[in-house]
Amino acid sequence: MIPEDVITEIKRRADIGEVIGRHVKLKRVGRNLVGLCPFHTEKSPSFNVRPDDGFFYCFGCKATGDVVEFLVRTTGRGFLDIITELAGQTGVEIPKGQVDPEEEARQKEKKRLLRALELAQVFFKTRLSSEAGQGARAYLADVRKIDDDTIDRFGIGWGGAADDGLVTFLKEQGIPVDDGVAAGVLGRSERGPYDFFRHRVTVPIRGTRGEIVSFQGRIFGERATDAQGKKRPKYVNGPQTGVYDKSGVLFGLFEAQPALKQGKPAVLGEGPLDAIAVHRAGLPSSVAPCGTGLTMRHVEELRRRTERVVVCMDADAAGKDAAARAILMMLSAGLDVGLAALPDKDPDAMVAAGRADELRGILLGAPAAL
Ligand code: ZN
Repeated sequence: MIPEDVITEIKRRADIGEVIGRHVKLKRVGRNLVGLCPFHTEKSPSFNVRPDDGFFYCFGCKATGDVVEFLVRTTGRGFLDIITELAGQTGVEIPKGQVDPEEEARQKEKKRLLRALELAQVFFKTRLSSEAGQGARAYLADVRKIDDDTIDRFGIGWGGAADDGLVTFLKEQGIPVDDGVAAGVLGRSERGPYDFFRHRVTVPIRGTRGEIVSFQGRIFGERATDAQGKKRPKYVNGPQTGVYDKSGVLFGLFEAQPALKQGKPAVLGEGPLDAIAVHRAGLPSSVAPCGTGLTMRHVEELRRRTERVVVCMDADAAGKDAAARAILMMLSAGLDVGLAALPDKDPDAMVAAGRADELRGILLGAPAAL
């Protein structure tokens, strides 16, 4: 980026009459230069250049602009190209390092991580629809009762059956292993890199512009226990990375934005799959923190988009604690807070049991939390 005052100085010093005179035959008339317009066909000159004011104007076709615009339009070259050339001709120095090199490096790094995440999503989606993805599809349809429309809307995928399927895929796409690790989709052990979300159903976590910043993985089926019969963790969450700040990102907020704009209350759930369940129950304004407790930054993200939040946590002790904490935080931020009392374990269980309408009624009718 060239600073605006440098651009102004370049334009001021460039002799517009002389520059345009190289392209158009001009004749001096008083303070103006006049010639045949290069932008339309004419026999008598209506093209005026006003060196004192630094612009050109055609009385015939109304074309107007400054010296840079003239060159862009007549040569088809880019703005930056032309300004750099004029800087050389006018002896104006374009300051180097106007872009903070650290900031530039950060932006480049972010771009690389987002690219790795985007490609990981391509991999997870293709795994889910592959023949090997049959088990994952059956789990989503039969156990979670998640329909294809929801799978598409949230971009749900599957990590695949291999330990290094994504490692290989990213390599094929020219993505260095380091980028995959930095993006949180690959892990690294003494035996080498491995797929962080292998064997798991994957749910993308998006930033507010819809870009994928991380994933959550849910284990299912026989993989839920390891070879020694020990239970594997149900959920794994992508780590904190250069593009994923857990304390600032709420799962579902991107997807919830249209409904929030329509004035629907936000529904705060415990995790992504609960938020998706609420979404399926007809409240597409459900969100959840992911791999972390609710923070004031999360609350602020909500407060900027809605006035009312209904808290909908699991009916167990941990859920009640989380709900009490969330309620206090949101009340302190001036939000109108409702508390939904679930008759069942969690929203996901209710939707899976075919009680979506009942869940929606409870959420919409939730009494004030205080
Ligand atoms: Zn003209």
